[in-house]
Amino acid sequence: MKIQYLGTAAAEGWPALFCSCPVCTQAREGKGRNLRTRTQALLDGELLIDFPPDTYCHALYYGLNLAAIHTLLVTHSHMDHWFPTDLIHRHEHFGHGAQGTLEVYGSETVKNAFDANILIDRFKVHPIEGVVNFHITHGGDRFQVNGWDITAIPADHDKREECLIYLCRKNGKTLFYGHDTGLQLSQEAWDLLEGERLDLVSLDATLGLKSIPAYHMGLPDAELMLEKLTALGCVDGHTVKVVNHFSHNGGMNHEELAAWGAERGILAAYDGMEVEF
Ligand SMILES: [Zn+2]
Ligand SMILES: [Zn+2]
Ligand SMILES: [Zn+2]
Repeated sequence: MKIQYLGTAAAEGWPALFCSCPVCTQAREGKGRNLRTRTQALLDGELLIDFPPDTYCHALYYGLNLAAIHTLLVTHSHMDHWFPTDLIHRHEHFGHGAQGTLEVYGSETVKNAFDANILIDRFKVHPIEGVVNFHITHGGDRFQVNGWDITAIPADHDKREECLIYLCRKNGKTLFYGHDTGLQLSQEAWDLLEGERLDLVSLDATLGLKSIPAYHMGLPDAELMLEKLTALGCVDGHTVKVVNHFSHNGGMNHEELAAWGAERGILAAYDGMEVEF
C-alpha cells in the first residue's frame, strides 16, 4: 500500500493565512517542506481521505485526476477536512467524462454540511444523485468499498459531532489514519483497534512538543498512543509510524519535527511525502 500526504497542516495552513509569527515568517521565506497545506491523504492513488479547501490546489500540484477517484472517507466537518461545495463540480455539467460515482463516507454532521453546501436549488436540473453518493457512517461501522475494507472508529475530537478515524485495509495491509483525534479514545475505539496489526499508523501531532489533554495530540501524546497501541498488539517493530497535521502554534519547523522523529523511528510528514509499505 502507498500513502501520499497531499497536505499536512492544521486548519490555518502553514504559514497561517494571517500570521507573522517566527515559524510562519520563516516558512514564507524558506518555503520547501515548511510550506504546509490543509490535511488530506491519498491511498494507492485511489482512496481519498478528507476533502479540504486545498483539494483543488492538490489536484493541480500533484497532477491528480480526481474524476478517477471513486472513494472518499471524511473524518469530520471541520473546514480543514471538509469543503463539500467543490463536489458539485463532479457533475457532468462541469466534470466532463467523469465516470461512475464518488462514494463518500462520513457522519451525519458531514452529510448535513454536504447538503447545505452543494447548492441543491441552483442545480435542481442537474441533481448530484448518481454522481456523488453519500453514506452516513458511524463509529464501529465496517464496510467494503471498491476493494477496500474500512472500519470507522470514534475519535476523541469535537464533541459536538461524531468525528471518525479510519482503519483502511487492502491486499493484507492495514493503515490506521488518526486525524483528528486526542489520546483519550473511548473503550469502544480501543476495542475496535485491539488485535489489528497495523502496517502504518498516522497520528495527530498538532501542537509540537506541547501536550494537550484532549481534542488533538502533541508529540508526547502521540508517543503515548504508540505505547498503548504497542501494548494492544497493534504496533510492533515492522509498523511504519508517522506524525502529521501540524500547527505553527506548535512552534517547531519541519527540520525540528524530522529530527525529533529520527531519534524515535517516527516520520514527520510533509506535503508530498509518499510512504510505501
Ligand atoms: Zn484538522
Ligand atoms: Zn504563525
Ligand atoms: Zn478537527
